[in-house]
Amino acid sequence: MSRKDCSRLKKWLYPELAICASGEERLAALREADRPFEFFIALLVSFLLVVLVGLAALRLAALFLGWYPSDEAIDWLYRGGAILCLAMASAIHRVRVRKIIRDLLSPRGVMLCSSCGYDLMGLPPSAPSCPECGSPISKRFVA
Ligand SMILES: [Zn+2]
Repeated sequence: MSRKDCSRLKKWLYPELAICASGEERLAALREADRPFEFFIALLVSFLLVVLVGLAALRLAALFLGWYPSDEAIDWLYRGGAILCLAMASAIHRVRVRKIIRDLLSPRGVMLCSSCGYDLMGLPPSAPSCPECGSPISKRFVA
């Protein structure tokens, strides 16, 4: 591994980076794709979802089961909710970054489905959609 390269964690999180020719190229792709602001947005969306679903679940538990959480249970619900928010935001962000990296690789002749990452090499130019996930193939793939 050269000194100018991304971390092993990033390579594990975003396996498309292995296709890049050099560490500098990997870093450039990551700089363009891995935007901290988008992680913040994903965190916000996750937070809202967890709060809404959590409040609805507590309301339903009170209505149908007559269960009201104790103070200790509420503490654990906060902790669980925070962990769930981080996990959801990380998952949403990872899917988004992988899609951006796949799109960045396409001008370099690496033909991956931007939705699922399926290798589109060797498909006839008339193929309208990805054989793996069915999403439409971007026109720039057709040489
Ligand atoms: Zn696909």
